[in-house]
Amino acid sequence: MGKQTGFMEYERQARPGREPAVRTKDWNDYTAPLSDKEVQIQGARCMDCGVPTCHSGMEINGVTTGCPVYHLIPEWNHLAYEGRWQEALERAHEKNNFPEFTGIACPAPCEGACVLGINDDPVAIRSVERSLIEKGFEEGWVVPNPPRMRTGKRVAVVGSGPAGLAAAAQLNQAGHSVTVFEKDDRPGGLLTYGIPEMKLSYEIVKRRVDILEQEGIEFITNTEVGKDITTSELDAEFDSVILCGGATVHRNIEVEGHNLKGVHPAMDFLHANTKSLLDSEHADGNYISAEDKNVIVIGGGDTGTDCLATAVRHNCKSLTQFDIYEKKNLLRDEEANPWPQYPTIHRVEYGHTEAASVLGEDPRAYAVSTTKFVGDENGHIKEVHTINVKTRYEKGKKIREEIPGTEKVWPADLVLLAIGFTGPEQSLIEQLNVETTAKSTVDAVYGDYQTNVEGVFAAGDIRRGQSLIVWAINEGREAARECDRYLMGETILP
Ligand SMILES: Cc1cc2nc3c(=O)[nH]c(=O)nc-3n(C[C@H](O)[C@H](O)[C@H](O)COP(=O)(O)OP(=O)(O)OC[C@H]3O[C@@H](n4cnc5c(N)ncnc54)[C@H](O)[C@@H]3O)c2cc1C
Ligand code: SF4
Repeated sequence: MGKQTGFMEYERQARPGREPAVRTKDWNDYTAPLSDKEVQIQGARCMDCGVPTCHSGMEINGVTTGCPVYHLIPEWNHLAYEGRWQEALERAHEKNNFPEFTGIACPAPCEGACVLGINDDPVAIRSVERSLIEKGFEEGWVVPNPPRMRTGKRVAVVGSGPAGLAAAAQLNQAGHSVTVFEKDDRPGGLLTYGIPEMKLSYEIVKRRVDILEQEGIEFITNTEVGKDITTSELDAEFDSVILCGGATVHRNIEVEGHNLKGVHPAMDFLHANTKSLLDSEHADGNYISAEDKNVIVIGGGDTGTDCLATAVRHNCKSLTQFDIYEKKNLLRDEEANPWPQYPTIHRVEYGHTEAASVLGEDPRAYAVSTTKFVGDENGHIKEVHTINVKTRYEKGKKIREEIPGTEKVWPADLVLLAIGFTGPEQSLIEQLNVETTAKSTVDAVYGDYQTNVEGVFAAGDIRRGQSLIVWAINEGREAARECDRYLMGETILP
């Protein structure tokens, strides 16, 4: 274990944010690194528990519990404490091809399941993970490791998000020749065009994609499978296909005025912002600007938070985020949401801190439901009308009741809809005759990943529905294992 008395001696210290007033003026990483000493101290807090709930990824009552890629957390915490950085990183890579993506953006269900977290602050596991991989790149320990032999089998991976990248990395290691098709102009999926630059920069995605390329994986961007390359071509050229196309069909809000100008899906705002930033540092003007606008973000999740942080950097005039739920408690409900489940609690994310620092207050309005959008004479959004609601559950069914007298009108020049996704795009799925579930996701069993079409597998959000990077990596790795078994009759992959 790290240090026998470490958990009693030291406090939790996670990677800090840079000064909000400074960081909102740029698009660089909003966090600042921990020193080696600080990382070692976090490693020292790990108790190396007999039952390390932090690393046993599972779902309890549908809630993610512990690390979904089964990271060997107590082992790398101990090695970090001893300053054996390279060995610690090797342990991290054993279970996760991309600790840099999760070390930055994972909500860290491991920390929610940390035993120390029962009566103290959990170990800052995600910050240790990020420090290990950053050190690995700085020291030159992360280098291409191409397979020694090739099997002669060819696999097409459709989509280059975390699921596709993980599947490709694993299949390549097994000696198969892998081609990743991506319809966007850059690889990375939502790592690149969903999560904004100041949280997860494209440089970090590209750094890893470059290594995968040097290991022998072929990336073909600007190519939509099912349109630019037909399914018969796919069938003729490849022995197997893994569908990793994500689940990005956005949910709409069916109230009066939702088609007004100035009302946009959040992903249109985020995607265009990142593309314009990467292409020309915004000089091309090909993005939806929030500058000097009253901005309303509808939706209280991660996507909404990313919209807040982006709008602040555009210098918006005002900023409000509607959350349909009431404000959560600061501590978990021990009965409904007990340890070691991921705690459903009130959180202040980077976008909230930034909005508060620049505009004076936390931008969230709770228990707010939108009733209509009202436009001006040019058909442009002018106002958002809302009413407060109470959410309760009856026999597991969600019931929303409006509270009379709480109607409100909010001035708005830009409205961003961050209310989730309904499922994957259907065109390729239909062309391949792949069966889907009632939720329109690809019908393939978790752990097996085989669809009804022989040799066609599915992993990540396209199978699971909109989820997390860490689940996408887990599914990509496991689908690669099943694909390898299909191709070779047995598998060498974990
Ligand atoms: C704004 C936003 C912020 C998020 N923030 C976080 C976060 O902080 N932490 C976290 O853990 N999760 C976060 N998520 C969720 C996370 O990004 C996803 O769960 C994860 O990226 C899913 O990975 P994936 O590989 O399954 O799909 P995706 O990342 O969606 O990648 C799918 C790729 O497939 C491509 N594609 C689709 N169809 C085709 C085709 N026919 N031909 C070629 N290419 C195709 C798409 O262009 C896309 O690049 C966020 C999601 C959003 C929208
Ligand atoms: S991948 Fe996520 S859950 Fe796993 S150790 Fe890293 S932060 Fe924790």
